This record gives sequence, structure tokens and C-alpha cells, in this order.
Amino acid sequence: MRSTPIEHALDLFYPPRCAGCDSPGAWWCDRCQALCVPVPQPVCAVCGQPSAISPCLICLEQRPSFTALRAVALFEGPVREAVHRLKYGNRTATAGALSELLLQTWLLQGWHAQLVTSVPLHPRRERSRGYNQATALARPLARALGIPFRDHLLLRVRFTADQIGLGVAERRHNMTGAFVVSGQCDITGKTVLIVDDVATTGSTLSACAAALRNAGASKVYGLALARQTVG
Ligand SMILES: [Zn+2]
Ligand SMILES: [Zn+2]
Repeated sequence: MRSTPIEHALDLFYPPRCAGCDSPGAWWCDRCQALCVPVPQPVCAVCGQPSAISPCLICLEQRPSFTALRAVALFEGPVREAVHRLKYGNRTATAGALSELLLQTWLLQGWHAQLVTSVPLHPRRERSRGYNQATALARPLARALGIPFRDHLLLRVRFTADQIGLGVAERRHNMTGAFVVSGQCDITGKTVLIVDDVATTGSTLSACAAALRNAGASKVYGLALARQTVG
């Protein structure tokens, strides 16, 4: 993505440092790009998890509410580092470079969307962090795609427990009813892309998609920077 004059000026004052390894020179360096671990193929056409059959057994048992979900790479190496910097290091500047990785993955799928939004944090968590890392990724992606970005289209109405250590069914149960659509724009018949930083089972994105489908969205795609495999 070509930088805007303001971004170019900012680069002069705050020289870029790589989101993956913190080395100076670029927001995402060639070495980190080479060290990215792709999601092993083949994957389930629906949830994007590595699977010999498609749909995978999990999706066959209970179809997620999203149309399909994909991730740029596994939650390992430089991508893992980048997510941590983005989440805890207040490195929103790196989000632009990381959104380019999302853009490449999105374009490879050949999917289309009319609206982009992000997985919301609970307002309490967003206040304490100061920003939503998924929004930081989604906004420049939407700009690059030329599609409107709708901030806070989804609202997180329940403060959900940490999902670490939970299985697929428990995660799904944990997320049920956690999101509602804010009603700020009519999404009837629209195809929506939801962006998140890390996807594991996809239960969070499925709960978001369920809320969007209930509000009239025709299709919902999920795109995450990283895929964390369960177990
Ligand atoms: Zn690097
Ligand atoms: Zn699946």
C-alpha cells in the first residue's frame, strides 16, 4: 500500500520498525515475511482449519454462522510477535502493514464484501486498552479495498470469560448471545467482512456472524491475521 503524505511525514519522525522483530527500516520486514508459517493445506472450506475433508467434522456437526473464515498465517513466529505488539504494545502504527497481509489473503479468496467491520471488544476492555486491535487492522484494510468500514456495527453485550483452555463446544456456548448489531446502518441483504486479530475455533466470529445474519446480512466472511490451532 502506498503511504499517504501524512504517513510519509510520520515515517520521517518515527522511522518504521518491523511489527514482527522490531528491527528498523520497515513496518514488516522480508525476513519476518519469510518466517510466516502458512496454515497447512488442505483446509475446511468453511472454517479454514486444516482438515483432510471439507466441511470438517466440527463444521458438519454444527455449521458456523459465517459463510467462510480464513487467516493469513498460523499464530507462530513473527505473526505471533506482531499480534502481541499490536495488542499490548500500543503499536497501532504497525496495523497498516499487517492489514496488507490481510489484504493479500482476502484477494486470494476471490470473495467480495460490501461492508467491513471488526470483532468488538467489550467497552470496558476497549477503554482500558485505549483502542481495539481488530479495528486497527480492519480500518486500513477497508480503505485499501475501497469498502466502507463500520466501527461498532457490532456491540459486545456480555463480558466473556477468557477462552483459553476451552474446547469447541464450550467456546461456542461461552460466546452465544455475546454480540448484537447496533442498528446504526441497514445491513439487509449485504455481505459483511468481519476482521479479527486471532481466530481459534472461530466461535467468536460465528457469534458475530449470527448477530449480523439475524440483522439481515446475506453473507458474512471472517478474516483473521492469525490462526491458533486448538489442542
Ligand atoms: Zn521483521
Ligand atoms: Zn470446518
